[in-house]
Amino acid sequence: MNKAAFLDRDGVINRKARKGEYITRWEDVQFLPGVVEAIALLQQAEFRVIVITNQRCVAKGLVTIPALESLHQRMREELGKCGAVIDAFYYCPHEMLPACSCRKPAAGMLLAASREHAIDLAASWMIGDSQIDVEAGRNAGCRTVRLLEEDDAGDGRADLVAASLLDAVRRMIEQEEAHAAKRISGRAHSEGSADAADH
Ligand SMILES: [Mg+2]
Ligand SMILES: [Zn+2]
Repeated sequence: MNKAAFLDRDGVINRKARKGEYITRWEDVQFLPGVVEAIALLQQAEFRVIVITNQRCVAKGLVTIPALESLHQRMREELGKCGAVIDAFYYCPHEMLPACSCRKPAAGMLLAASREHAIDLAASWMIGDSQIDVEAGRNAGCRTVRLLEEDDAGDGRADLVAASLLDAVRRMIEQEEAHAAKRISGRAHSEGSADAADH
């Protein structure tokens, strides 16, 4: 089984559009600072990097599915040239209603990714800049990171909060290393006790 870092797209990888607007053209994609380094760190730490994005602009007729997919392909290529590999993109093209099983906060896209990429959801993280990303991650059984703007207090339901994707990734890796160290010291301790019992 693999572990994944599920990344929201707008506001995590690229600057989000103004309220009520959508990023539908390559010309409008501005990668956020630290994104290349963050994705490279995730790969070094053996995470699959999978984008999970709501794109209701498709249902609204603002972009076609082929155009959205070629936008994602371009993002993938440009990041890949810099050494940041995205393993897959999943998007929900639907309107809010009728409710579908893929639009976050539903877990549908994470569950599909889990099946198609052999992902252990309990070993995985969802990283997003909105509360619905956190809810989607929790609904799938993942740990979560919420990216917060300075004036945003969040509501405390994410496992970690961070200022950017790079900050999020550093904190995730720190936390995983701390847990791994605790497991190792726990094991050493129990072996020590066994020895003590022999004497
Ligand atoms: Mg977002
Ligand atoms: Zn959907």
